[in-house]
Amino acid sequence: MLKIYSTMSRKKETFKPMQGNRVKLFVCGPTVYDDSHIGHARTYISFDIIARYLQYRGYSVFYLQNITDIDDKIINRASELGVAPLDLARKFEKRYLEDMRALGVDHVNLHARATEHIPEIIAQIETLIEKGFAYETDTGVYFDESKFPDFGKLSRRNIQDLNIHRVNPDNTKRNPGDFALWKKRDEEPFWDSPWGNGRPGWHIEDTAITEEYLGQQYDIHGGGLDLIFPHHEAEIAQMESVSGKAPMVRYWMHTGFLNVQGEKMSKSLGNFITIQDMLEKHDPETFRFFVLSTHYRSPIDFSETALEQSKNSLERIYKLIETIDEALESDIPQSNDNDADLNDKLTEIKKQFIGAMDNDFNTPKALSVVFNYIRDVNRELDEANISKSILIGIKNFLMEFGAVIGIDFKRRICADDKTRDLLEVIVEVREKLREKKDWELSDHIRSKLKELDFILEDK
Ligand code: AMP
Repeated sequence: MLKIYSTMSRKKETFKPMQGNRVKLFVCGPTVYDDSHIGHARTYISFDIIARYLQYRGYSVFYLQNITDIDDKIINRASELGVAPLDLARKFEKRYLEDMRALGVDHVNLHARATEHIPEIIAQIETLIEKGFAYETDTGVYFDESKFPDFGKLSRRNIQDLNIHRVNPDNTKRNPGDFALWKKRDEEPFWDSPWGNGRPGWHIEDTAITEEYLGQQYDIHGGGLDLIFPHHEAEIAQMESVSGKAPMVRYWMHTGFLNVQGEKMSKSLGNFITIQDMLEKHDPETFRFFVLSTHYRSPIDFSETALEQSKNSLERIYKLIETIDEALESDIPQSNDNDADLNDKLTEIKKQFIGAMDNDFNTPKALSVVFNYIRDVNRELDEANISKSILIGIKNFLMEFGAVIGIDFKRRICADDKTRDLLEVIVEVREKLREKKDWELSDHIRSKLKELDFILEDK
């Protein structure tokens, strides 16, 4: 039975979707004002694996992510660079999606931009005003925190304690912790609203988007730990006040932070690594493997040594698959006396793998199950004690495991130096054809390469 740790209860709870086997999953997407970094990659790879495992367990998953394409950070960066905020947002959204594709993060069903949901945002704010949860001032529309006594239930803080540290600079708000739903602004970009020109606050886009596509209550809401307060707390206050129903979400899932050599990653410390920089040096699969070698809720420390270890571990799986392929082409028997025992063992391993993943997606435990098993299989292979039918079963299990963790063990190609050089020539020639806009021939080369298992991506 699948158990998920929910930040709300601080406990592992048995997973039961609201509607049969359908799972509605929402994960906060990025604010697109700069290139995405490996901390983002940690969070999104973790949820990619979670979505994959839910599917593996037979659930039908609808995975929604917002794109914050309007925000002060975007506006400030755009003004520094002298470009239009929405142009900047589109540029970094495109790069974010390319990064995710390169990392194999491909289970999001729908990306929803904040700026394409302004009517839904306005409608939610109007309901909050009508119900007495929000009020208008000269500067905007604010959520009245004092009207929602449950404020703080996710982060387990109480309003009185919070207020000690809060300020109300212009005295325009009723309570220092009231947050903006709508900011009145006359500088571009702005949208027309019942309260004049302006733009939405950060928290309201998520509840407007989730209400539109998932309804007022849904199964899983995810994000990094830093979002628990105030972002997710504000989302709860907004949605539960609009709907009058609680809980807004059954399971709150939060990923731990990625640090670099023991330190928080930040631009000022100079240890900020973009996904593109990381991929210059490492395979996406190695990074994915590194992410899943730590439980998603724990902090993870990025270092070259850790990546090297991940690479070596992955190598062991590839090696075993190659050895199995070679054995399958040899003249070992189709079956032997050992089959029944080895079949039982494989069934037991699958059970242990599922047991680990069912326990709040415990990927490090799942990996240790697989690696202990690989050691045993290698021993059986050394002792020539294994039949073809068992080897096929083992290979299928490794492929199945690969599909859950998002690594296609089939795709690796062992290219020697000469093959690599030859490939480079082919790619260069194709590049020249593309410059001449000879799309037909360049597509032909790509599809021929694909037949040989070489995947060529134009970036
Ligand atoms: P942002 O664009 O900063 O709103 O972040 C998008 C998502 O990435 C959020 O869920 C953040 O919690 C997550 N995130 C940002 N930095 C890190 C980090 N260093 N480690 C893990 N997740 C992060």
